[in-house]
Amino acid sequence: TVNCLDQHVEKSPNRVALIWERDEPGTAVHVTYRELLDLTCRLANTLKKYGIQKGDKVAIYMSVSPLSVAAMLACARIGAVHTVVFAGFSAESLAGRIMDSRCKAVITYNQGVRGGRTIQLKATVDEAVKNCPSIEHIFVAQRTDNKVQMGDHDIPLEEEMAKAASVCTPESMDSEDMLFILYTSGSTGKPKGIVHTQAGYLLYSALTHKYVFDYQQGDVFGCVADIGWITGHSYVVYGPLCNGATSVLFESTPVYPDPGRYWEVVQRLKINQFYGAPTAIRLLLNYGEEWVKKYDRSSLKTLGSVGEPINHEAWQWFYHVVGEGRCTLVDTWWQTETGGICIAPRPSEEKAEIIPAMAMRPFFGIVPVLMDENGKVIDGNDVSGALCIAQPWPGMARTIYGDDQRFVDAYFKAYPGYYFTGDGAYRTKKGYYQITGRIDDVINISGHRLGTAEIEDAM
Ligand code: AMP
Repeated sequence: TVNCLDQHVEKSPNRVALIWERDEPGTAVHVTYRELLDLTCRLANTLKKYGIQKGDKVAIYMSVSPLSVAAMLACARIGAVHTVVFAGFSAESLAGRIMDSRCKAVITYNQGVRGGRTIQLKATVDEAVKNCPSIEHIFVAQRTDNKVQMGDHDIPLEEEMAKAASVCTPESMDSEDMLFILYTSGSTGKPKGIVHTQAGYLLYSALTHKYVFDYQQGDVFGCVADIGWITGHSYVVYGPLCNGATSVLFESTPVYPDPGRYWEVVQRLKINQFYGAPTAIRLLLNYGEEWVKKYDRSSLKTLGSVGEPINHEAWQWFYHVVGEGRCTLVDTWWQTETGGICIAPRPSEEKAEIIPAMAMRPFFGIVPVLMDENGKVIDGNDVSGALCIAQPWPGMARTIYGDDQRFVDAYFKAYPGYYFTGDGAYRTKKGYYQITGRIDDVINISGHRLGTAEIEDAM
């Protein structure tokens, strides 16, 4: 938190840290670095008052908001480990994660709102913790005016924060201490609690945020991911705040109240970098260009895509319709386990070519290699194989919580000495990387191995 808050508060306390684009259209809330530090310290002191200490695990089951960001940073400030669970997950999924990481507390909202609908967050937490003996307290914040059932272990968060001191000395941490656990479902088996640590993760998320998106001081950075995913951790919270950026928190959906929502927000908040998912782009392109063209997008400089391979149709629409053919579009490949972007068209030499629908270039320090079926490194270009990374980088996951052996087995066993991503990739004639999808999703037809990305793109 010192890197994300205190250093900026010293220099420019009134700079806007967060713009919360609430679900209710046109009701954005601006939060300065000074205010975010204040919120974070009050929340940190509240956690401490109820016995949360360095090393304790805290689940955060909240929709995206300044308070949920403060909850993450408050944990970091006192050396507690947060595990954010996407606020759309079921009680069962939440309970599984709480039990696996032995959380002592949950921070939640009474209710959430998304796309005009109310979501029962506190009720879901109550259902989940019935089976979670490790939970001592539930901190309940108010997102709506509705009253919810409060039990003996439930603490009204804002009331406590109002009484708490607004100064909280940050805990001193080792660079390799845990910062957070984030569960990734993967295709099979029990969710893996991916562990990220302090210094390397923060360095990597901040550097990639700055260089992949060409973030300049004063820009408004709009990553529309939820904090429940790694993209939200690295490019809504840690990367942008470490760089002293203004970061947008998007609580709504791309189609609420209508399919122009993203672009109306871009116009109103004057967003300079817009980072989203191919799924949303594919959804929106079905509604037609009018919804985009209605709004002024001249503030946009960089567009980013993440989460899955972006097919050509979506890439072209994003580039030409949304970006008017004048914005840099970066397809960013990475994983929960990598902590930050590993392959993307930028940074690169100025004006270097960008090939549609391709992640292309490794980031500083990333050494991608392709492996054949016999575990041998494939040299040369115009070749396909299993994508591995040949040397460690600062943002890489350190383990799977509570199961070091599973971490070794999942990522380091298939190709000894290399980190195995689970994805396949093609290295083009020019040496650029094209992700072809998960290796375990490959279909073998008459000796041709077809990845999901190739089939989806053709369709
Ligand atoms: P997660 O761990 O949930 O962040 O998902 C990571 C996986 O999403 C990767 O291993 C890829 O299969 C896929 N993925 C993420 N970004 C991209 C991208 N830009 N291109 C292709 N696949 C991607």
